[in-house]
Amino acid sequence: PGTRARAPTRTRADVVFVPPSESASGRLTRLPVRIVVAMFAIGGKKDQAKAAALRAAPKSASKTSGGSVRPSNHPKLSMYTETPSADISLETFEAFALDRMRVLKAIDDGLSRGKKPAEMEQLMNEETGKHLKITDVVPGDFSTLGGAPLSKDEVSHFALRLAYCRTEELRRWFLLNECQLFKHRFNKLDAYAKAAFLEEHDMEYKPLKPETFAEKRKGISEVLHGIMKRDDAEKILNAGASGFYAVPFEEVADLVRGRRVFMADGEAYVPRDQLTSLVVGAFRASLSKSLAVASRRWAQHVAGEERERLAPVIVSLSKRYLGRDFGKPGDAGERGSVVTLKDLPSAAKTSFPLCAKNLFDAVKREHHLRHEGRRQLQLYMKGIGLSLEEAMLFWKTEFCKKIPAEKFEKEYAYAVRHAYGKEGKRVDYTPHTCMKCISSNPGAGEHHGCPYKTFGEESLTAALGGLSIAPHKVRDIVQKAKAHHYQLACGMTFEATHGKTIEEGVQHPNQYFDESRKALGFGASGKEGDENKETGSASPVTPGAAGARPARPSIQPAPVSA
Ligand code: SF4
Repeated sequence: PGTRARAPTRTRADVVFVPPSESASGRLTRLPVRIVVAMFAIGGKKDQAKAAALRAAPKSASKTSGGSVRPSNHPKLSMYTETPSADISLETFEAFALDRMRVLKAIDDGLSRGKKPAEMEQLMNEETGKHLKITDVVPGDFSTLGGAPLSKDEVSHFALRLAYCRTEELRRWFLLNECQLFKHRFNKLDAYAKAAFLEEHDMEYKPLKPETFAEKRKGISEVLHGIMKRDDAEKILNAGASGFYAVPFEEVADLVRGRRVFMADGEAYVPRDQLTSLVVGAFRASLSKSLAVASRRWAQHVAGEERERLAPVIVSLSKRYLGRDFGKPGDAGERGSVVTLKDLPSAAKTSFPLCAKNLFDAVKREHHLRHEGRRQLQLYMKGIGLSLEEAMLFWKTEFCKKIPAEKFEKEYAYAVRHAYGKEGKRVDYTPHTCMKCISSNPGAGEHHGCPYKTFGEESLTAALGGLSIAPHKVRDIVQKAKAHHYQLACGMTFEATHGKTIEEGVQHPNQYFDESRKALGFGASGKEGDENKETGSASPVTPGAAGARPARPSIQPAPVSA
């Protein structure tokens, strides 16, 4: 931050960047960036103009429909129909995006684990309080349309919208979690703020006409009595027509799906206190449309035009892992999970997650692995503490069952050394995260990626059966995987095979391994039972003995790894 320049004018302003003013160690940081992402906004000209006018309003105050006077010129709940326009550094852009990802990931984790509504509320309060207060603004001196402060919430939303618009799976994930966040924030608004929000966004839901209410009262009453206590239902009915809104049924799909609303002639008659569903429905529809538009335009323009600068940052965001880095030398030893070559077969059997086990079994069976699979397994094994020498011996022993040693030296040894940072740019590469594995799409004859995503139902059932998991649990895990909850399915496998859960959820194959070693009682030397010496316990924990061992400090979120 600090270097500012005006963006060059473009006739079709998409995501416009000023030229880089400095290059910090080759990385795309510290570049001032002008986010004029109008092409990613959705909503008619009326919406855009209205939002712009509201932003440009005098800083004094505005009157809400409820008659209360509130300051108008501070960040507030947004429908994200208008994109922010200001110069910010690419560094800030990325940092804000990652903060929002932390919140969305926490929401996703909470939902996947089936947290109750009250627990989800608490979780979202904590996460937004830590990373994404709605009142947070971009620090520094920059100008926005109308001179309003630039909201961190909006910048981070549009940054992630770009990152998550690119595939169906990413769009689904983003939409789900953004809607949860929006719902949480809307629920927290007081009545005046809600009224102002509806007014600002033209959500003029029609109050039910008295004659319509009289005509449909019986049907409405039946639905209400079916979903709530008699007294509550009567209270709503006694409010008469003014207690209901007629809205297009598709705007309250969740109520319709749950049969929690009366419907007639394509309209749902929604009690006033269920307004949240309406607003969230409108938000979902708007965001879903925006994502589709963004996706098309990303492919058509931005990915190509910004191939050198923005595209790599955006693409990396959706794959970014926010937990511990498992690739540092000596790190495995500190975590107590070092394995040696001779330990590999037994470790693979008891402690490898399915992704690593699948690759390990494939190389043992076929004495070969294609590039992506080799890379995934090489980095994973580095992360569990296998030394370069032992790794080289492992790959050579397996591959040389099929090819001559010279061919191995010529074609494969380089890649092993490269993974350990001993060749090429000498970067100490980190093992793949779950996100990275999940986002890969192996072709025929390839074994990399996450099996919970890549395996068909039959293969996954067989693989889980091979881990001696009870058939009913296998069925549950397969169902989770079919519902695209791959990491949750993996966590269920851990629970079924180890008798305890991974508290923070499965985020990384090497984290799975570490948790497994802890659960099985392996200490820092990699020898079973070492931990017993430390704790004075008599026998190691075996799979099924949940909670018998005092937990080690859990893996704490660490600075973001690349
Ligand atoms: Fe591996 Fe993660 Fe998939 Fe589990 S969820 S199999 S650890 S990639």
